[in-house]
Amino acid sequence: MVEQIHVNGKCHCGNISISGSFDANMILACHCTDCQTFSGAPYRAVVIMTRDNITIDGEVSEYTKVADSGNERVQGFCGVCGTQVYARAPDRSVYNVRTGFLEQHKSLAPVKHIFAKSKAPWINAIENAVWHDAGPASKQV
Ligand SMILES: [Zn+2]
Ligand SMILES: [Zn+2]
Repeated sequence: MVEQIHVNGKCHCGNISISGSFDANMILACHCTDCQTFSGAPYRAVVIMTRDNITIDGEVSEYTKVADSGNERVQGFCGVCGTQVYARAPDRSVYNVRTGFLEQHKSLAPVKHIFAKSKAPWINAIENAVWHDAGPASKQV
């Protein structure tokens, strides 16, 4: 049996709390163009929870994206602070929960990367760049 991992987190303003559990092999990084556009970032990492394994408190704003195929993906986010919290199936059976707002996110290394065809071409070389412990206004840069 695959190990179950339990996580919890809040959006930046605290209006939304999500907790739940998932199979340890269901940690994905998605490099699709939708993830890039919605997040403004090169990719999004998610854990996949089924309806029975997720608890959501607070009001989640939603935007439904309709693909050319007619498939719908419902994008959930906080309407106050903008934190992206999930994408879900229209029937609410499965939630792809974003890892960045989860307290345990540092231990949630993606097991699989999907939509590699649209990944940023520099992603594999990220360790080769210069890294600083803090931002541009700090003395460390
Ligand atoms: Zn919020
Ligand atoms: Zn994606």
